[in-house]
Amino acid sequence: MSPDTNPMRPYLGRLAGVKDLATGIKLFQIELLEDEGKAAFADYKPGQFAFVSAFGAGEAPFGITSTPARTPYLEFAVNALGHVTFTLHALDEGDPVGVRGPLGNGFPMDRIKGHNVIILGGGIGGAPLRPVIQTILDHREEYGHLTILWAARSPDLLVFREEFDEWRTAWATDFHVTVDRGDETWTGRVGLITQLLEEISPSPENAIAITCGPPIMIHFVFLTLKKLGFAPEQMLTTLEARMHCGIGKCGRCNLGEKFICTDGPVFWQYEIAEFLEGFL
Ligand SMILES: Cc1cc2nc3c(=O)[nH]c(=O)nc-3n(C[C@H](O)[C@H](O)[C@H](O)COP(=O)(O)OP(=O)(O)OC[C@H]3O[C@@H](n4cnc5c(N)ncnc54)[C@H](O)[C@@H]3O)c2cc1C
Repeated sequence: MSPDTNPMRPYLGRLAGVKDLATGIKLFQIELLEDEGKAAFADYKPGQFAFVSAFGAGEAPFGITSTPARTPYLEFAVNALGHVTFTLHALDEGDPVGVRGPLGNGFPMDRIKGHNVIILGGGIGGAPLRPVIQTILDHREEYGHLTILWAARSPDLLVFREEFDEWRTAWATDFHVTVDRGDETWTGRVGLITQLLEEISPSPENAIAITCGPPIMIHFVFLTLKKLGFAPEQMLTTLEARMHCGIGKCGRCNLGEKFICTDGPVFWQYEIAEFLEGFL
């Protein structure tokens, strides 16, 4: 049965690169080997996700952290947490993996065009936001001012540090980074991302804020944005939940009448406000 008729069959891939991103987090670069897989992922969108399988262990969903414009590989930032992710972390370049997707709605980049954009990434929650940043930087004239707030619990958990210089020096872009707790190497800012947000106080006028991180961070970022005058239709996030199928069949990731896998994982604040507390 081809993947056209069986959406649960992964496309075969090969690990083209494995890099340390942060403590316990690796970046996996996957080359798809089958024509069907290459065609399926030819034009994936920022915010979409895919299941990656470690053969013999199982599969798990991850936000795609690359854009097709910047790399021929599919990139995923994977935190080692349990069975599948530990198995993935033990793989080497050249090893086979499976990829199923792309899945989910992705960020509404057309709707975001023409707006000032505030990106707030916490820890590995920065992974699905990186393609949004890259897309804006690659089509700079189509978007307004870009403000990036990047955070982690500690300096060793900051992801994509190699890209900070690009973000810091990009045209019409402000980049701020903060950690909850510094260490002996850290000379930057210490404090919560919400404190940083209040300090910077970006104007809500013609702006859209996009956040991803632990649910508690999303909750307090939304509250702070509201305090700054942002309306529910100016706030976007992307959610995670335990899920098995990713195609709206297994019923594991429902949020009221919506499924995170097919209606999301990207949602406007007003779509999920009543459910967010259940995530905390
Ligand atoms: C749309 C989506 C995008 C995601 N993007 C990323 C990503 O970019 N990078 C990344 O590292 N992870 C991401 N995740 C989470 C990732 O899927 C889980 O960490 C992974 O499934 C764990 O699998 P495991 O077999 O290693 O862990 P398991 O052995 O299944 O579980 C290990 C521990 O993690 C907990 N856990 C498992 N899955 C989840 C989950 N979805 N949410 C909260 N806790 C969980 C379990 O309760 C358990 O305590 C995403 C999840 C979704 C649904």
